[in-house]
Amino acid sequence: MCNLLVSFLALSLLPGALKPVALRCEYRTDPLGLDTLHPRFSWVLKADHRDELQKAYRILASHSLSALMQGRGDMWDSGEITSSQSQQVEYEGHPLNSGEKVWWRVMVWDKNGRPSAFSAPANWEMGLLHTADWKAKWISISGAPDAKQEQPAIYIRKSFSLQHPILHARLYASALGLYHLYLNGTKVDRAALTPDDSDYRKRVSYQDYDVTHLMHNGKNAVGMSLGDGWYCGHVGFGGAANYGSHPWGLAQIVITYRDGSKRIIATDGSWQAAYGPITSNDLLWGETYDARKRQAGWDTSNFQDSGWTPADANFTGAEPQLFAQYAPIARQVALLHPVSVKRQPNGVYIFDMGQNMVGWSRLRVEGPSGTRVQLRYGEMLNPDGSLYTANLRSAKATDVYILRGGGEEVYAPSFTFHGFRYVELSGYPGVPDLNTLRGVVVSTAVTPTDQFACSNPMVNQLQHNIWWGERGNYLSIPTDCPQRDERLGWMGDAEIFIRTGCYNADVARFMTKWTQDITDAQSAAGGFSDVSPRITDMADGAPGWGDAGVIVPWTIYLFYDDKRLLEERYDAMERWINYIHEANPDLLWRNRVNNNFGDWLNVNAPTPKDILSTAFFARDAFLMARMAHALGKTEDEKRYSDLFDRIRAAFQNAFVKPDGRMEGDTQTGYTLAIAFHLLPANLQSAAANYLTQDIMQKRDGHLDTGFLGTGYLLPALTRGGQDSVAYHLLLNNTYPSWGFEIANGATTIWERWDGYTPQKGFEDPGMNSFNHYAFGAVGQWMYETMAGLSPDPNHPGFRHFFLNPHPGGGMKYVRFTYTSLYGPIVSDWKIQNGRLFYHVVVPPNTSASLILPGMNPEGVTEGGNPAQKVEGVQFTGVKNGDTTWDLGSGSYDFETAMIHS
Ligand code: BGC
Repeated sequence: MCNLLVSFLALSLLPGALKPVALRCEYRTDPLGLDTLHPRFSWVLKADHRDELQKAYRILASHSLSALMQGRGDMWDSGEITSSQSQQVEYEGHPLNSGEKVWWRVMVWDKNGRPSAFSAPANWEMGLLHTADWKAKWISISGAPDAKQEQPAIYIRKSFSLQHPILHARLYASALGLYHLYLNGTKVDRAALTPDDSDYRKRVSYQDYDVTHLMHNGKNAVGMSLGDGWYCGHVGFGGAANYGSHPWGLAQIVITYRDGSKRIIATDGSWQAAYGPITSNDLLWGETYDARKRQAGWDTSNFQDSGWTPADANFTGAEPQLFAQYAPIARQVALLHPVSVKRQPNGVYIFDMGQNMVGWSRLRVEGPSGTRVQLRYGEMLNPDGSLYTANLRSAKATDVYILRGGGEEVYAPSFTFHGFRYVELSGYPGVPDLNTLRGVVVSTAVTPTDQFACSNPMVNQLQHNIWWGERGNYLSIPTDCPQRDERLGWMGDAEIFIRTGCYNADVARFMTKWTQDITDAQSAAGGFSDVSPRITDMADGAPGWGDAGVIVPWTIYLFYDDKRLLEERYDAMERWINYIHEANPDLLWRNRVNNNFGDWLNVNAPTPKDILSTAFFARDAFLMARMAHALGKTEDEKRYSDLFDRIRAAFQNAFVKPDGRMEGDTQTGYTLAIAFHLLPANLQSAAANYLTQDIMQKRDGHLDTGFLGTGYLLPALTRGGQDSVAYHLLLNNTYPSWGFEIANGATTIWERWDGYTPQKGFEDPGMNSFNHYAFGAVGQWMYETMAGLSPDPNHPGFRHFFLNPHPGGGMKYVRFTYTSLYGPIVSDWKIQNGRLFYHVVVPPNTSASLILPGMNPEGVTEGGNPAQKVEGVQFTGVKNGDTTWDLGSGSYDFETAMIHS
């Protein structure tokens, strides 16, 4: 008894095994400008041994850092909450006000009830919550032409004096168009292409910057340049966007003096406006910069703006709703050095960036005033070495720089972007070299979250290409491609790629914002769209395209346990499924199919369109049931599972023969039926066999799937027990295959399997992008099946996950790390001398099911000991010949004999 008491006391005196670190609020570290009234907290737990879980937590929040450090939570003291939740914990303290800054910290109890110390403090700051907080007016230049074509950029400015020492200053800004902001001659931040694309008739984001360090007591000046962007420049193939004829800017500086009083400087008719050196700007056409027109010091207080005119403060359009920036702000994420520069016979120079990229180039040049240097962009070269631009269609993708003269000049465009690997330089004074240009890579996918490597170099290049496709096309909105006159939020492309996209980068905020665009684009009848924001293609969504409105929120929930997103989008998703259902009472989706693109870009193997549409209708119902379950909507869950069952029955009735053969007999048909659980259990392997026969016999070992089938093809083969066929397709290098593109020099994923072939040259330039991520959806299979990590829909956010590698394809090793909200998950395997070595890391406060291809559980060791006996590992049985185990958190090294490969 006495001994027990002593050991109990000793245990409770020991520090807890868990330590909360990396505090985040709404997915961000110390964010500014939140407009949600219940921000969500998360923290990562560090543990000093295996199998650790959080038993409870306590959060303190206070206005005052010192009060917080003394243990006082005057905004919120949650008390000890018995809960293992360490992600998405909602703030429930005192109501929050505009501009309010709050500090917070958290402590946790480990699974034995031992407390940690409080974490280091973190903070967040609210944005402007009420319309009345905005004193700023939309302003622009008076008398702007209505031309909507290649307009000059607009500059607005104001000088002002501050009379007291400043405590802090915040700058809130937005534009109908794009802006860059300057204070006292310094650019306010690293933002590029801000604000993001949105439906400007409905809403536009504003950004919140801490500008305390850029301002001082005395004279100050603020300047803003405005470009056309997605507001009034060319968007898609439909000509200029018609939200307005020229851009407008909005800015409000809120200065808090040390004595607590405030001063607001806001855009209004007292600002001055002028044109400047950017004589034309357009996202698709490019930019012209005449450095001779630069007005030095225009953004400083000493500048004489007598040549400027009072700004036009009479914005007569519909006022869009302002919302606080939620997604990461697009910015420069890499700088590429060209790998070669070659002079062409006609005197122009072609630079090769070595990588198909998205952004622009930065030019260094010295020469006489008035020299006109031109940069044209392309993804490929013609056989004679000249720039291939036919596939850009009407996108001129041309930047021009006119020199000021008198020393070295450096130029990068402000209001355009291009998709390119090659840059054609002409008019350059002198002989350029590799230092003349740099490739500035711009993206909204700013935080990569995975690392993948395997023993096959082609597959590593494929992963590289998938990632570069994502970073280039996740720009402002998820786009189809970055180079031609398209660059739209195509729903099908985004939906096919999203699961792969979620592994490669932290896209929670980016996609959350885009789901608002999807909802804004929903028609009165309930139709999601083909493209969001809905512009250029105004139709309601086609099967496989509109369904992104359901599949995207579901996938974000799966990866980030973001229930709030489901709550916010639930009504819109219901409206979509009703929209399909009411027009198709017999449950075969044949009406309201809109543009009905089918299995887009399949290889002469069109799947009957009603098979595709009905499969997606079933998928929507299936996911709605899961989402209703997550939200505790029991009746809805039942209603949607019932709907799924009935669609499935109608599908089988209409398209599946008793022997499992399907109408159309296509790879995509079988693939979707298997992947979406549409077949009776007894026909699943028959269908997988037909699929395999089609691939191996009819197509001589090739796929023929288009957008809708390709992403699901390898997972369907694996589900049907056909791993070796899946590996065969992955490793193929003849047309059509990923390897074929790579053998032909691809550094991103191509739109078409035969975008270029040595025999035929380029495909039809009317549609031939070399940076279209849709077929890159194969990444999902590489991570989930080859590497073996997949999420558990019953415990989203990787709270619990599966580790189930499928060695094969001659792979000697695969190394995969995915940084989840809980921390890095590792799944690394290698095969040596017929044995499988498997290193895994399960983050604290998570657990995993391990499924190993080893018959005899006795033969599996961990760290050299029988796995059954080590801490954190529990043997749970043998399933389909594989041993299964439960894993608590920790780092493990398993070893077992290989039984299949
Ligand atoms: C786009 C696609 C899109 C398709 C619709 C194309 O022009 O580039 O990727 O999904 O249209 O079929």
